Amino acid sequence: MNYKIALIGGDGIGPEVLFSAKKVLEEISKIYGHTFDFREVLAGGAAIDFCGEPLPKKSIDVCKESDAVLLGAVGGTKWDALPGDKRPEKAILGLRKQLNLFANIRPARINPALINYSPLRQDIVSKGIDLVFVRELTGGIYYGERGRKTKNGTVQAFDTEVYSEKEVLRIGKYAFELAMKRRKNLVSVDKANVLESSRLWRETMHALSKGYPEVIYSDMLVDNASMQLVRNPSQFDVLVTANMFGDILSDEASVLTGSIGLLPSASVRDDSFGLYEPIHGSAPDIAGQEKANPIAAILSAAMMLRLSFSLFDEALCIENAVDNALSDGCRTADISKNGEIGIGTSEMTEKIISYLGKK
Ligand code: NAD
Repeated sequence: MNYKIALIGGDGIGPEVLFSAKKVLEEISKIYGHTFDFREVLAGGAAIDFCGEPLPKKSIDVCKESDAVLLGAVGGTKWDALPGDKRPEKAILGLRKQLNLFANIRPARINPALINYSPLRQDIVSKGIDLVFVRELTGGIYYGERGRKTKNGTVQAFDTEVYSEKEVLRIGKYAFELAMKRRKNLVSVDKANVLESSRLWRETMHALSKGYPEVIYSDMLVDNASMQLVRNPSQFDVLVTANMFGDILSDEASVLTGSIGLLPSASVRDDSFGLYEPIHGSAPDIAGQEKANPIAAILSAAMMLRLSFSLFDEALCIENAVDNALSDGCRTADISKNGEIGIGTSEMTEKIISYLGKK
């Protein structure tokens, strides 16, 4: 089969980790006989430098004409002084909106070989962490009305959280369906004791839960959820959240598994199209130094194979290769301990490639 993949390297470590993911996909294409037609696309700071805007129309068009998008990361201090709608991060928000990617799927699973690398106590982590965030991605406070005004001589700024019943139903349904395929446990995170948008969220999720009697459903306030994630993460299977709550909590969950450099994500819609990216940012502090962990990007490519192309064996092949590389002691700096230097981005990539198709 022939698959068209738009590649957005972006900024900082983005192009470095994306190169690793591409190399792994090239190897998969040799092993399984697929053709991956890669199309390089400009977005983020790189696009600002090239043509003055973070998400040129041509880039959106190429993404729309592809079967899936694989993205590194965008952003960096170089563009921090630009106004909000001209910053590199605008490219990500624009892509999500333009491509109608309403659900962000962020799995967090601890590899048994990395239990010592979690910042949590061993007795907590040894029970296992295997959870998935389903985060609403195209609504809520990141897209609501925002602005500034001067009142009584003081500048005020505001951001607005808006959710419609339709938006909550759409993300809720995705989360229930995913829970049905996993351990049938769903926690809906909200702030219904304070926010009206959360009250609508909760009412809608309750109504939806009636259609999924096999799923053990519960609500949890976001402040409690942030505490429970470090107190007892093994209690969670699927968590469904509004846009901002999911953004914050999924970063918290990521570090429990050892490093933010390990975790992939998918942004999807109702058909098979999706945008896949590591959950980390462009990490300007380590860019260009061969220090980036490529695993999150490589696992994002595996998610793409599974969710967009239904290439289940190929996705598992990549995930097993990553697991085996970690079990055999391959470590980048972010998952090194006691002063170990760790191997570089390219070497980790080569190690993972060497495990493809083995064991
Ligand atoms: P970050 O995720 O880039 O970095 C946080 C910390 O984690 C840093 O210490 C970094 O060195 C480390 N880290 C991140 N990825 C790593 C990897 N693969 N291997 C090893 N270590 C890794 O978050 P930040 O510093 O808050 O943001 C930096 C820039 O990235 C900002 O401009 C931000 O807006 C942008 N950002 C972009 C995305 C995206 O493109 N989707 C997401 C988050 C942040």
